[in-house]
Amino acid sequence: MEPLTLVVSGARLTDGRVVDLGIADGRLAAVSDAHTLTGATVIDAEGRLVTESFVNGHLHLDKVYTLSRVGDAALTAYTAGSMGGAMTGIELARAVKHSYDGSWILPNVRRALQESVRFGTLHLQAFCDVDTTGRLEGLRAVVAAREEFRGILDMQIVAFPQEGVLRDPGAAALCEQALAEGADVVGGIPWIEYSDADARAHVDWACALAARLNRRVAMLVDDAGDPSLTTTAMLAEALLEHGLVGRGVACHARAVGAYAEPSQRRLAGLAVKAGLGFVSDPHTGPAHLPVDLFDRLGVAVALGQDDIEDAYYPFGRGNMLEVAFLAAHALGLLSVPDQRRLLGFITTTAARVLGIADHAIAEGNPANLLIHECTDTAGLLSRHAAPRWVISRGRVVATTVEQTEWSTDYAAAERK
Ligand SMILES: [Zn+2]
Repeated sequence: MEPLTLVVSGARLTDGRVVDLGIADGRLAAVSDAHTLTGATVIDAEGRLVTESFVNGHLHLDKVYTLSRVGDAALTAYTAGSMGGAMTGIELARAVKHSYDGSWILPNVRRALQESVRFGTLHLQAFCDVDTTGRLEGLRAVVAAREEFRGILDMQIVAFPQEGVLRDPGAAALCEQALAEGADVVGGIPWIEYSDADARAHVDWACALAARLNRRVAMLVDDAGDPSLTTTAMLAEALLEHGLVGRGVACHARAVGAYAEPSQRRLAGLAVKAGLGFVSDPHTGPAHLPVDLFDRLGVAVALGQDDIEDAYYPFGRGNMLEVAFLAAHALGLLSVPDQRRLLGFITTTAARVLGIADHAIAEGNPANLLIHECTDTAGLLSRHAAPRWVISRGRVVATTVEQTEWSTDYAAAERK
């Protein structure tokens, strides 16, 4: 075995085993319970929980920290009631893109990525608006930021025609240009088009382009609490038609939560057949995908931060444990087995959704690890603290220590 550059000793895995993890050349070279590994650097985890790094399945990265530029009207329209005004919210949010400029977008993107790494996210699917208003300003800033974080955080950039492709003539050509300039994934938002026929044409355009360029597809589908929206099924059907099985992701899909259960089960079956994964973000809107049912039916589901302080959501820190904590409440997933599923939705299952093959604590895989302060999953979700150590490709890239200084000696006060 080649010399180990880093050993994490006393690492408690989610199955309760306490092991030593040996790292060489950025990969996990040994997972051992013999506790005999030695390396150039040793971190003693002292029985703390060690997990895979986090995967953020869906973030509108070009829009982060833009809420102050947009104002509250869009946010109010998007989040009210059963999301009847969601489309109005999107139209109001468009205003900020008239002033889109890489000179202010890039620092925002950089800040969001630094926060993401601090909180342990090392894989991210970044949606980036590409349309005739914002043109390629946001996309170019995000591509530049990806270069700055290369080797630390892996980013799949989605060329996302936020205003539609039939509604916004010219957006399709800009998406192709975005893919030539560094975007990885063909995006789409079919539900925003004015008719089902147009929505189907939108889905077909994206899937044909992805098949031609050998890319993956990620779409924002059915983003309102309206059961008549059916673009999720259109996407699954198109993946099958265009030879893209296992290469598609459906984000939001909130309308599915309003379907009757037989229709939900029928769609889940179609999704499994098409290898369509889902990203849900139940904290950013009042309607959401039936995550519990879809997961039990064998559909791969991830969670996404979705937004950070933009026209659609006023909070967010790129903290996937916080997202999972909020999802635990919104989805009613509170038992210990459910907590483990939630952890999967931001680690190993999320990796499956994005087509990342080697994201598990196993010999030979990249050493993307988080050493947490606590020792069990409940503590992890409850505290949603930044990990004590973030290890990317076998290298410590961030450490966080939380410390409180007491101004009163409570122990002494109790003794009196
Ligand atoms: Zn979104």
